[in-house]
Amino acid sequence: MRKRKLNVRRFITVLSVFIISIVLIIIVVFMDNNNPDSAKNDPLQTVSPTVSPSVSTTPVPGSIESPLVTPSPVPEETAKPDQNLVIRTDYENFLPNESGEIPIIMFHRFIEAYEENTEKEFTTTFAEFEALLQTLYDAGYRLISMEDFIDCNIKVPAGTMPMVFTFDDGTPGQFNLIEEGGCLKVNPKSAVGIMMAFNEKHPDFGLKGIFYVNMDIGDNTFKGAGTLRERFEILQSLGFELGNHTWGHVDYTDPKNNSAGRIQESIGRNQEKADEILPGLRFYSLALPYGSLPDKSLYQYLESGSYNGIEYKNETIMAVGAEPSVPSISKKYNSLYVRRIRAQGRVPVNGDLTWWLPRMSPNRMFISDGDPTTIVVPEEKRDTIAVEKLNGKRLITY
Ligand SMILES: [Zn+2]
Repeated sequence: MRKRKLNVRRFITVLSVFIISIVLIIIVVFMDNNNPDSAKNDPLQTVSPTVSPSVSTTPVPGSIESPLVTPSPVPEETAKPDQNLVIRTDYENFLPNESGEIPIIMFHRFIEAYEENTEKEFTTTFAEFEALLQTLYDAGYRLISMEDFIDCNIKVPAGTMPMVFTFDDGTPGQFNLIEEGGCLKVNPKSAVGIMMAFNEKHPDFGLKGIFYVNMDIGDNTFKGAGTLRERFEILQSLGFELGNHTWGHVDYTDPKNNSAGRIQESIGRNQEKADEILPGLRFYSLALPYGSLPDKSLYQYLESGSYNGIEYKNETIMAVGAEPSVPSISKKYNSLYVRRIRAQGRVPVNGDLTWWLPRMSPNRMFISDGDPTTIVVPEEKRDTIAVEKLNGKRLITY
């Protein structure tokens, strides 16, 4: 009897210890799950990419759960949305159309004032250019880079229309440097200087554009203070791009240039020299001098080829005339011949930007929703989009 009593007491003691142990284990596990540094059971929790200081990375001897060997999956950090984006989704109210046209403007020369013998069609005064920026801004245009045009990565505010500025020939009126107190600065009397001043007042207009240069003219490109390398570096640091305009401003309709060898030399040699002036500089866009084209069978060499061991690839080939371009996600888009609109010169001509502005009505233009990751089009335009060119962007119709 006594022995049985003893066994019962022992059993109760063991049971109590067991229950207390279980309760302690539950408490420990519960506390661990509520530890803010523990994300392994909560995939929705944002995880800082840096190592949390409260997590010991020193393995404890004999410890089974060293943080170094725990293979818990860490959720990838999601891309942070750009704080400057102005995105809208109330499509019916502002009618975005990201299948619409994008004007690509072509500039050549800029001067202080016209003279009697000033060339008529490709020269703009600084005052006219400044007024043009205001006109374009007020009309709802915002500048994008050539790179973003190529990728249809449109980051202009919702309800506005993207536009690309292109500049041919590397003339000093487009951009040049002056020296002031031992420092190089952008000449305010240049297109870039005027754009910088305009951007101070209207930062949402954008400071973008691509300059197509001919490396054979050497130091005459953007002639002024500083070395050619410094000029390129400063231009790029401001957010501008550089493009290929051939070595020798080659006319491809001239029979002597109408060969695979001459085409590759004119493009590849320009690339070779650019890389020598600013190592790593790669052109990804070509502007055809005079808008000239060789025989159709040779077009492939405009796009890609090699010269002297230098390989090149032009993702866009820019023509001269004479209408707004379709976007790169359009079924009609042809990267080998992208149309440009010339800026108005001393004398207006049909098809220049002044002629086009009233004709670029909102119903035909690209109107952004503000989100570069989506392509928003009215339902009836769905068929104009080449879905294979969306490259991960989401097509939304309304
Ligand atoms: Zn040119």
